[in-house]
Amino acid sequence: MLKKKSAKNKNQSMRDIVKSIGNRFLEIQKIAEQRGIFLNHRELLECRCGLEEDITTDGKLIVCRKGAEGMDVGLRFPEPDKRGKSRCPGCGRMLKLRRINTP
Ligand SMILES: [Zn+2]
Repeated sequence: MLKKKSAKNKNQSMRDIVKSIGNRFLEIQKIAEQRGIFLNHRELLECRCGLEEDITTDGKLIVCRKGAEGMDVGLRFPEPDKRGKSRCPGCGRMLKLRRINTP
């Protein structure tokens, strides 16, 4: 004879499923970041010197010069800190994201 699961057991198993999905999502996010794929978690950086971040058609984050979008110059802006600050890899100017997306 099968026993009905108690509400407490159902909640626990649902929590386990959600936790498992969340952990898998974090693993996938980490792999994507390692492969240079931009996850749309913030706005793109740009500097007055003409360097700006761009996204390729396959989702990779690159840095190019204004007017030459899609042409990777091989430099990368450091990931902005918690206050949204980063430094331009071309001229060294400190930059700040206009808007910070919080998870
Ligand atoms: Zn610059």
